Amino acid sequence: MKKDDCLFCKIVAGEIPSTKVYEDDVVYAFEDVNPMMPVHTLIVPKNHYDNVAAGIPNEELGHLFNTAGTVADIKGIKDSGFRIIVNTNDDACQSVHHVHVHVLGGEPMNDGDPSKS
Ligand code: AMP
Repeated sequence: MKKDDCLFCKIVAGEIPSTKVYEDDVVYAFEDVNPMMPVHTLIVPKNHYDNVAAGIPNEELGHLFNTAGTVADIKGIKDSGFRIIVNTNDDACQSVHHVHVHVLGGEPMNDGDPSKS
């Protein structure tokens, strides 16, 4: 299912250009247009869900997260380490309301404790 006014649905459909990292029947992974780290890839399900709490079937959600390891392998950061982030709704600054997993890495990160930032 596709949502007509959704940016990431348009990317999945090829209506908006992107740099593909990985694709299969369920997910599409592409480079973030504004990378925050040397590696910054986004993974989306091809079906539209507004966010990670929108009732995604377990199999599809599992596939989405398993793809993070696949992407990390493709990008050469599986062993050095990577971080996955899924921003959800306003307090977490979700800006595109089609669920997506950020895969970040390529250099050492801090420990991610928000109380220290
Ligand atoms: P979030 O803030 O978690 O919703 O993340 C949305 C991400 O989508 C941001 O990191 C943006 O840089 C990225 N983004 C927005 N538009 C595009 C695009 N056309 N192609 C690739 N990444 C994009």
